[in-house]
Amino acid sequence: MKIQTALLSVSDKTGIVEFAQALAQRGVRLLSTGGTAKLLAQAGLTVTEVAQHTGSPEILDGRVKTLHPKIHGGLLARRDSAEHLKTLEEHDIDRIDLLVVNLYPFRETIAKPGCTFADAVENIDIGGPAMLRAAAKNHGTPEGGACVVIDPVDYERVLADMDGPAGHPSYGLRLELAAKVYAHTAAYDGAIAAYLSSLAQAEPAQDSAPEVNTWPNVLTIQLKQEQTLRYGENPHQSAAFYTDGTIGDGLLGRYKQLQGKELSYNNIADADAAWECVRSFDAGACVIVKHANPCGVALGETAQESYRKAFQTDPTSAFGGIIAFNREVDEAAAQAISSQFVEVLLAPSYTQGALDVFAAKKNVRVLSIQPGQAHNAFDVKRVGGGWLVQTPDTFRDNTEGFKVVTQVQPTAQQMQDMLFAWNVAKYVKSNAIVFCGQGMTLGVGAGQMSRVDSARIASIKAENAGLTLQGSAVASDAFFPFRDGLDVVAEAGATCVIQPGGSVRDDEVIAAANERGIAMVLTGTRHFRH
Ligand code: 5GP
Repeated sequence: MKIQTALLSVSDKTGIVEFAQALAQRGVRLLSTGGTAKLLAQAGLTVTEVAQHTGSPEILDGRVKTLHPKIHGGLLARRDSAEHLKTLEEHDIDRIDLLVVNLYPFRETIAKPGCTFADAVENIDIGGPAMLRAAAKNHGTPEGGACVVIDPVDYERVLADMDGPAGHPSYGLRLELAAKVYAHTAAYDGAIAAYLSSLAQAEPAQDSAPEVNTWPNVLTIQLKQEQTLRYGENPHQSAAFYTDGTIGDGLLGRYKQLQGKELSYNNIADADAAWECVRSFDAGACVIVKHANPCGVALGETAQESYRKAFQTDPTSAFGGIIAFNREVDEAAAQAISSQFVEVLLAPSYTQGALDVFAAKKNVRVLSIQPGQAHNAFDVKRVGGGWLVQTPDTFRDNTEGFKVVTQVQPTAQQMQDMLFAWNVAKYVKSNAIVFCGQGMTLGVGAGQMSRVDSARIASIKAENAGLTLQGSAVASDAFFPFRDGLDVVAEAGATCVIQPGGSVRDDEVIAAANERGIAMVLTGTRHFRH
């Protein structure tokens, strides 16, 4: 069936004028919506506005443009049904043989910094998906059906078929383009669902856990493959990166690679761990991550200073690390970083001077962070036959609830050091023991099965790095089950300790702190990380 009438309604107007011209040259009548019609008319094409065609004006600020029986009847009538075609005649409805639609840019809109809720909602396309789904449903049989095009790259293929022996789009092409439509509308709705549920699962209140458990009975997540990766955690594992639609296409999640070798599975995982940690600081900070654990974290007046301090914590582990900043990286910081072996660097932005420094080091993967990204709505852990989901640990402790439980009261400086250590400990795998002082980590004990071993390792690491723990502050991500862990940190030189408390032996641990003249703060909240 030759194409007589085409309806064109596109947000992405790439190539639409040329395509419409080619259709017009082939004798196709053009119907179109407001903005698209205007563009085509400006290009000198004869075009009928959908509003004129249906006799119903576009209303509600464009929310209703094409939702009309004259449009949907024209798209949906079966070409092989005499009855359907008769119904069209009775209601004076023209067949629409070709539909060219792409949707309001929902994903691009929510990816923009400062996107408001109203902007997001207004960019949920309604009539577009309705028409696309209608035309795709009616892609028909080899004898005839509607042809639907959602992607400008397919314009040429439709024209090629129209110029071919059959004179109209082949069944194979119609079928392929129909499938493409449903994949697209599914991903589009998936992005909307993910956006709305990220609002519904908003970050927990400052000082309390959620009172009700509001997880849906069925959790629908639409994932889109963004890139296959060379391999997974090990070379014998295959891997890919999927985006969840909360951030625009073409990026590795919230990360944009500016230069360097291809990112590996471990690079992305570690970059994410580094960014989550560094973004949690209000002051300018640098975090160096190895194997998903921070091996150096520091604050500094400048990016360079924070890097130098973070590196000092554990120069051995920092080799080949992932380095993250929560502020712009300038040339001085770039010079300092480029003297070490770095796998991945990430920051919100870079000065041109910094980029020039890295340009000379082609292998370094330099990533920028897309601004304004909310935390993920939920974390997922895969287990056999299912998924564990939870809200992420974005809990911001309310320091007013912190209690000093020892005879010795912490000084203002000690309190500052403890809060810094406490924040770092949240991002260290459990059991975590973190020694800090003067806005930097001094020793990090991570991922041990016993807390006392983490304490020992943290102090050994500080010693190896030539750092003193005398007068240091210590954070423990969960309570000390016995006094032994406390004894280890005290002997290493710590003079104040921050920990959640809540052990049946809290009294024993507090007595040990008093015995040693240490100040201790209980936070009441634990931060396991596995
Ligand atoms: P135009 O720029 O031509 O005014 O609008 C084109 C956009 O409108 C396309 O992205 C198309 O999907 C969308 N669209 C077409 N009909 C409707 C409708 O009835 N309601 C809504 N919300 N969007 C529509």
